[in-house]
Amino acid sequence: MDLEKFTKFLIQQAKENASSDIHILPTKERYNIYFRMSGKLDRKYKLTTENGMRLIQYLKYLANMDVGDHRKSQGGSLVYQLTETLEQDLRLSTIANYHGQESLVIRILESQEQILLEEHTYLSEELSKIKKLVEFKSGLILFSGPVNSGKTTTIYQLIRERQKKTDLQVITIEDPVEIEEESFFQIQVNEESGNSYEESLKASLRHHPDLVVVGEIRDEETARMAVRGALTGHLILASVHAKNAEGVMSRMMELGISQELLKQTLIGIIFQKLLPIYCELCKGDCIGYCIHNGRNGKRFSLYDLIENEQIQRLTTDNLHASAKNRNRNFNHLLKKVYSYGFITEHTHNQYIIP
Ligand SMILES: [Zn+2]
Repeated sequence: MDLEKFTKFLIQQAKENASSDIHILPTKERYNIYFRMSGKLDRKYKLTTENGMRLIQYLKYLANMDVGDHRKSQGGSLVYQLTETLEQDLRLSTIANYHGQESLVIRILESQEQILLEEHTYLSEELSKIKKLVEFKSGLILFSGPVNSGKTTTIYQLIRERQKKTDLQVITIEDPVEIEEESFFQIQVNEESGNSYEESLKASLRHHPDLVVVGEIRDEETARMAVRGALTGHLILASVHAKNAEGVMSRMMELGISQELLKQTLIGIIFQKLLPIYCELCKGDCIGYCIHNGRNGKRFSLYDLIENEQIQRLTTDNLHASAKNRNRNFNHLLKKVYSYGFITEHTHNQYIIP
């Protein structure tokens, strides 16, 4: 097997199939290669164990990872030259199973590719309100949604569009930086060298930027710093892990931010998921190589938004009831897009928030 040729073939195929990542996974007898397309894994190729190991070794070498170590999980990145003019950003990560067999996942980053949010959402009402939030001079906007739900794409595109109207100094703090954007000052979090979220955010605020993006609020210090940033005249856009929009409030309170402070700073909560679109040609979810919806049109965003005046009415006691009964909450909107025929019944049932 020609490793160089096969690698190029693999990345080209993955891109043509609109896959978000390539999984090279060992079994007892061989290696299987899967593409993740529209959120689902699809087995594409089989390799002998020897070729699978050689391929992983080769890719680790390209990404400057430690090729001598097969047991420790490692991460790496690589700009792959597909053609003379076309580069592809890749993120690699390995782990080993208890037999000591390595697996590799390659994430295909959507570098520079700008999408128009309007053309990639099922319902535009929430999106137009979200766009207005980004016009504020200061405050905290919190985003939530599962991994790969398009949060970073949404945040980046919202800021780019606002930057078209006014020049803004934008600092992003992320782990890792997923999309390269020249007009932002992008900081990569690196706990080992002391560049934690907290430290990076503290340093960023001293630079008096207009807008700061915090890749993830996952500890009390970062939460406090984000709130302080919003109070001192910055617009802060940050992601928080939660199961629904109301859960973002409870998560911030768990991280030690009082409800009072949240009400003073929080101007919006956005919860989003990417749902596979129903395609008439495919008679179901639109699959990777179908030309009907284009490479970036296989999944659309569904946004749930809690605006400031609704936030003011939220209390610790009514959070749960609000998640259930609020008009246009995620599940209501999901039902709506299903009834419009935009998604299949299966997708509706799969994405509903229990
Ligand atoms: Zn299709």
